[in-house]
Amino acid sequence: MSFDLTARLAARRADNLYRQRPLLESPQGPQVVVDGQPLLAFCSNDYLGLANHPQVIEAWQAGASRWGVGGGASHLVIGHSRPHHALEEALAEFTARPRALLFSNGYMANMGAVTALAGQGDTVLEDRLNHASLLDAGLLSGARFSRYLHNDAASMASRLEKAVGHTLVVTDGVFSMDGDVANLPALVHEARAKGAWLMVDDAHGFGPLGATGGGIVEHFGLSQHDVPVLVGTLGKAFGTSGAFVAGSEALIESLIQFARPYIYTTSQPPALACATLKSLELLRSEHWRREHLNALIRQFRAGAQQIGLQLMDSFTPIQPIMIGDSAEAVRLSQQLRERGVLVTAIRPPTVPVGSARLRVTLSAAHTEAQVQLLLNALNDCWRKPESEHA
Ligand SMILES: *Cc1c(COP(=O)(O)O)cnc(C)c1O
Repeated sequence: MSFDLTARLAARRADNLYRQRPLLESPQGPQVVVDGQPLLAFCSNDYLGLANHPQVIEAWQAGASRWGVGGGASHLVIGHSRPHHALEEALAEFTARPRALLFSNGYMANMGAVTALAGQGDTVLEDRLNHASLLDAGLLSGARFSRYLHNDAASMASRLEKAVGHTLVVTDGVFSMDGDVANLPALVHEARAKGAWLMVDDAHGFGPLGATGGGIVEHFGLSQHDVPVLVGTLGKAFGTSGAFVAGSEALIESLIQFARPYIYTTSQPPALACATLKSLELLRSEHWRREHLNALIRQFRAGAQQIGLQLMDSFTPIQPIMIGDSAEAVRLSQQLRERGVLVTAIRPPTVPVGSARLRVTLSAAHTEAQVQLLLNALNDCWRKPESEHA
């Protein structure tokens, strides 16, 4: 039987789930040009405003002059160069772990870590709202795979009772579509009581959270003993690209031996590691970015509540507005865009059915005046009846 792709695409359109890629015609930042239109954007994950930072760009350029452009080979062959190694050492020091291992991106880091640790005869337990890369990794691992209720340590513990083999409990640190943070102290308690390992993917916590940007483990003051497998990504608050896993000597050596998405891929460009070393330095030392960001988050929440918008339980830069219906979320996103404001509508299957939302994200690069413009636009659109668009 042949594939009827046209019918599949038509069904997706009919369900209001069709995806399109906005074409960005400017660098990342609050003011962007998309499909020829200047817009004020509240949808990137560049939480600290480092993706277009002059010093990071300069580090990238100097790195390219010194090390060339391509990684050239996999890490195990001849692609592991001095800047990669220096970045791993800096990330280990940053996370207060003995070692860190650099991956091409977060999807591969998660795939590599989960499948290297757990296999047939083992158990992987995941929060049901975990990032797709973690859920895919759990499925691919061949371990018994079960999803517990969102951020519910009791639900996790009841599954832990039935676990077989080595057990890996996996959670997002900050949930990417909701903005809430994992109740790590409770998860640590349950996992440790049963000898299970906890793996935390803190893609959205590194940078904004913790006194020095060390993310959710710094926020809760947790050690390697509590969280043996710690994942961070570099494409969000770091403003560059790539990812890392931090942990014990034995963990990192095991990943080098057994993590297929680490072994069978070309290393990232060494100049990219030079850029990330600079952004790590800025992320750790420039506290004003976190402070300004937190002030914007407070401003946004207070303003949105006045308008009567339904916010989620989040103190992070991810501040979704719950809408429910996919068509309505798309309509609001479109109306905001007509007012010069870009906020993405997030729909199933990225989020559960019936929970479409506008995913507002804030960045230290935004000003208070820009957040006020967002609030004004939301106030306009929220009160406009459906008929405006008919
Ligand atoms: C973005 C994200 C990833 C994937 O990271 P990439 O480097 O973009 O591949 C993994 N986990 C979470 C929670 C994320 O938000």
